[in-house]
Amino acid sequence: MSVEASLPVPGTRRSWWLQEALASEGSATEAPPLAGDVSADVAVIGGGYTGMWAAYFLTERLPGARIVLLEEDICGGGPSGRNGGFVHGWWESVPYLVGQYGEEAALAIAREADEVVDGIGAWCTLHDVDAWYVKSGYARVNAFPDEADDWDGTVARLAELGEHGQLLPMDATAVQRICASPAFGSGLWMPGAASIQPARLARGLRRVLLERGVTIHETTRARSLSGDGPLRIPTAGGTVTAEHAVLAINAWASGWPGFRSRVLAWGSYMVVTEPIPDRLAEIGWTGDELLSDSRFTISYFRTTRDGRIAFGAGVGAAGFDGRIGRTFTHDEHAVARVVANFRHLLPMLADVRFEDAWGGPIDITGHRFPEIGSSHGGRVHFAHGFAGNGAGPSRLAGRILAALVDGGNDPVARLPFVGRRQPFLPPEPFRFVGARIVRGALIREDDALDAGRRPSWLVRGLARLPALLGYKLGR
Ligand SMILES: Cc1cc2nc3c(=O)[nH]c(=O)nc-3n(C[C@H](O)[C@H](O)[C@H](O)COP(=O)(O)OP(=O)(O)OC[C@H]3O[C@@H](n4cnc5c(N)ncnc54)[C@H](O)[C@@H]3O)c2cc1C
Repeated sequence: MSVEASLPVPGTRRSWWLQEALASEGSATEAPPLAGDVSADVAVIGGGYTGMWAAYFLTERLPGARIVLLEEDICGGGPSGRNGGFVHGWWESVPYLVGQYGEEAALAIAREADEVVDGIGAWCTLHDVDAWYVKSGYARVNAFPDEADDWDGTVARLAELGEHGQLLPMDATAVQRICASPAFGSGLWMPGAASIQPARLARGLRRVLLERGVTIHETTRARSLSGDGPLRIPTAGGTVTAEHAVLAINAWASGWPGFRSRVLAWGSYMVVTEPIPDRLAEIGWTGDELLSDSRFTISYFRTTRDGRIAFGAGVGAAGFDGRIGRTFTHDEHAVARVVANFRHLLPMLADVRFEDAWGGPIDITGHRFPEIGSSHGGRVHFAHGFAGNGAGPSRLAGRILAALVDGGNDPVARLPFVGRRQPFLPPEPFRFVGARIVRGALIREDDALDAGRRPSWLVRGLARLPALLGYKLGR
């Protein structure tokens, strides 16, 4: 039987990360579903990083506040327990931020976002959470044989702004020293990035919140959020009435009233190999460094503590009309594509087997940047739109959300992007059809560049269509 004939089937169990984290935590404190009506000072909807960081910072800012967190699965059951574990801030977004808010504001935002890396490390130490945190650095590599790097402009822009060391160009020899692959050319080094076991961070946050007196109801779905006076959040087992609510539902925002017109859910899938520590040593990949390629449907890959490679790619499909269903968890074609990307980028590991595969939705906005703000007269506070880069920035979002609940009188809540909405996306079914066409074109363009071919004019045109319409999507 060939190695590829035995690919793991996604959607049959929790992510490898979450299985590992749940096994390591033993018998965790229960967080039973809501049964009956309760009132709270703050209700948090969503038990991923964003909701849990918001709850954590609320316990810091408002000690004694009654905080109730509702999660329709278990805490960390969503993308926060399934992601690649790449933790970094927004240095690569600085050119975009300069265009939106000017140089000074862009740097203020990027510096605040940079806190998340050391902040997560220090938080893990403080709370004795072993999330496999290593400040290992992150290399983006150019794996297209005939394409020039596309990041020189970003490096130059940062240097002009006085931030020389955040992103550093690497020649091909330096890339090979991190991980020797014939597919890799030159690269871009982000020294300030860290790797984590993502589900261990999520489960660690859950433990700390319970210790701090936050009430968590798992398997409890918030059906809606309304109220002119106190907010009402009905669930199957009872209603939460609260003065403030934090809505931290990530890709599920694509189906939530008020947000559905600005958020698109897109699938990202991962696989994990069998343990191969000796093979990693042979190719020199022993420093926990994070790696990704420069495809639009980015492949991202890193090692684990027990010598595996966890490898993902944003090759899933777009969702339809805000439904977060099996497209994001059961797509075997997406897994096959992730594996094909693995074989292409790491051809010397052609015989390595995969032990697990899983997927999840990522939340894309028109500018691929989060929207964080308040609605309902300043009583509902929301954050989503991390575009597959929320492992670190969700901590900043949590700080902002807690500050907004606390009246917003804090520099972090006054960062210029707070309160700025993202552009409207086309309505359904045009959005779904358009996303399918553009995704197909992007994959075909990436495939052609991988093979050293020039993509057809039609493929190139379709891949650039969103940009022509003013979106920061596509090429
Ligand atoms: C495969 C994959 C790989 C990724 N890799 C990386 C990476 O390496 N680095 C990075 O920075 N980012 C990565 N991301 C993105 C990252 O996981 C997210 O940006 C981050 O987890 C967002 O956290 P969150 O709390 O906002 O969302 P989530 O973790 O999605 O949490 C939202 C929670 O809300 C719950 N929920 C939704 N609706 C309701 C409701 N009505 N009632 C109650 N609960 C509800 C959901 O069940 C979910 O648990 C990846 C994502 C995926 C899918």
